[in-house]
Amino acid sequence: MNGISLVLSAATASSNILDTLSGLVGPIVGCLVMFLVIFSLSLIIWTFRDIRSRTQDFISQILATVLVTLFNVGGLFIYLILRPRQTLAEIYERQLEEESLLAEMTERQTCTNCHARVESDFQVCPSCGQKLKRSCPKCERLLELRWTYCPYCASNVGGAPMPGNMPGVSMQGIPPNVSIPGNPGMPVSGNRY
Ligand SMILES: [Zn+2]
Ligand SMILES: [Zn+2]
Repeated sequence: MNGISLVLSAATASSNILDTLSGLVGPIVGCLVMFLVIFSLSLIIWTFRDIRSRTQDFISQILATVLVTLFNVGGLFIYLILRPRQTLAEIYERQLEEESLLAEMTERQTCTNCHARVESDFQVCPSCGQKLKRSCPKCERLLELRWTYCPYCASNVGGAPMPGNMPGVSMQGIPPNVSIPGNPGMPVSGNRY
């Protein structure tokens, strides 16, 4: 009698465990499926964002996204192998760098006489003594030789000798009593920049 009841109780216990297990299987499978769906969706979204930062070609964007949608992690792997190496921002930055370097190189001045390198604040060429700039008699800032007016203090410096290498260009285009806009003491009217 005792043995039978033991077996019975054991059977009911195991069926209870089975019941609870089968009750757990549903939610676990549900969670797994949900995770997989969210995971593959986020893979697709990540790929779409990534390819958009790397190319503006619409067909490539669609192809990469479809690839990951179809093959999931495998598609992502292929995409990571094939995607453009640089993002558009990186390419843009590099272009800017190259442009500024180029500008720096073309900005370097040379002596008109001996073609030695000179800095923009040199008054004479250190190699041959060629006059490059002169200083304003009033504010003492450096002026180009061809300038008639000092742009810093607005004084007329046209009396200084002109360089001989620009004979055709007239420097007398501005009447001597011209009013300089932005001069202190003058009321500003009309166009403001
Ligand atoms: Zn020189
Ligand atoms: Zn000046």
